[in-house]
Amino acid sequence: MRRFAPKSDFGPKPIISSANITMDSRYHEEITRWALEAHFVPQVLVEVVRANLGQDALRYQLGRHPHFHFDNNRISEGNAYVESQHAEILELAKEDGGGSRQRRALGRLLHAVQDFYAHANYVDLWLARYERPDGSYPPPDAIDPLHPALITHPDLITGTFVFWRDIIYYVPLLGALARRIWVHPTSHEAMNLDSPRQGWRFDYAYAAARTRTLHEWRRAANAVRQAGGQDAIAALTGIGRERP
Ligand SMILES: [Zn+2]
Repeated sequence: MRRFAPKSDFGPKPIISSANITMDSRYHEEITRWALEAHFVPQVLVEVVRANLGQDALRYQLGRHPHFHFDNNRISEGNAYVESQHAEILELAKEDGGGSRQRRALGRLLHAVQDFYAHANYVDLWLARYERPDGSYPPPDAIDPLHPALITHPDLITGTFVFWRDIIYYVPLLGALARRIWVHPTSHEAMNLDSPRQGWRFDYAYAAARTRTLHEWRRAANAVRQAGGQDAIAALTGIGRERP
C-alpha cells in the first residue's frame, strides 16, 4: 500500500504528512483499481493510479489547490476541474494523442470525485433523506452518488481547511489535545470521512466513491470511443493494442 511516508528513515521526518489531511491513499488506490482493473493492462493502469495519488502531494494540500479535493466549498470549481480533465481526454482522443496524458487526466479527475464524498456532507444529506422510520438506513451500496436533488442541494457544503486555525490538528500530540478542546463544525477536521477512523459513515463515502468512479470511467470511455473508435480505446487502456 502506498503511503506518503518519508522514503528513508534517515534525516528529519516531516512534522505533518499529507496522508493525514485527505482520503487515505490506500482507498484512492483500491477504488481506482476496483473500477478500472478489468479495462486496462496493468502496466498502464499504474499511470492512472500514480496520477490519482499525486494529487495528494503536500504541495497541493493545506489549502492550496482546494478544488483538486473538493475542499473549502469549492464545489463548482471542483466540478469545472473534473470537466476540464474529461475535455482533455476527449481532445487527445481526437488528435490521436491517446495514452499517458489521457491516463494522467483520468487519474486526476477520479481523485477529485473520490474526495468529494469524503469531504462533503453528501453522505449526511443522503442518510437524512433515506432514514427509515425505525432509525435505520439502507446499506452503503444503495447510495446513489449523483442523486439529482442532493448533488444540487442548497445545504451541500464541503469541509474547510483554514491554515492558521486547523494546522494544529496535524501536529502530533498537540493535535489530539486540540481536537478534544474544540473543532469548528464546518472544518475539514470535523467533516471528513477520509478513513474508517471517522466511523460508520465512511462506508457510505467509500461506496459512493466506487460507484462514481465507475460512472466517470464509463463516461470517459464512451467519449473516447465516439471520437476515435476502438483504436482510441486501445491507446487509452493498452488492451487490444497488440492485435493486428
Ligand atoms: Zn485529495
